Amino acid sequence: MSKNYWLLLEKSDETRISKGIDGYQDQTGESYRYDSLVPNHKNLAGGDFVVLRKENEILGVGEIAGISEVNDAKIHRRCPECRSTDIRERTTKQPKWKCGKCAHEFSEPEESIVEVRSYVGDHRRIHQIECTSLCERRQALRSSGCRRSVTTLNAPA
Ligand SMILES: [Zn+2]
Repeated sequence: MSKNYWLLLEKSDETRISKGIDGYQDQTGESYRYDSLVPNHKNLAGGDFVVLRKENEILGVGEIAGISEVNDAKIHRRCPECRSTDIRERTTKQPKWKCGKCAHEFSEPEESIVEVRSYVGDHRRIHQIECTSLCERRQALRSSGCRRSVTTLNAPA
């Protein structure tokens, strides 16, 4: 069986604009959390090779030691008008919330609990890498504008 190669994107809470779905509690260099709402979630496996990226920085490369799964629930907050989870919490203006999609303003988002399967990829074997060795790839990542949490880096067949 051939190994797969993945780009894992760790999002920091400070820079996330949309507040509709809670962030994952990633522990850099130790584990990577994702769930069944993420594209490709079924395809990651122990032994796969990963490049870990946080915002525009490459944090390291390594191998997934193993993946554990648990049942989990997530709170989704939605715009009451169009049901989008792309909603922004405002610090000064009232009402407190504004929809990023339809621009509707509201004081309380609609909340629902979504049952998901949660995965924790254990990649404690990840290595911090020299940025120089990845400069070209960094450039490519930066310009790709890819916002997916899990992206394949397999060479096209
Ligand atoms: Zn809306």
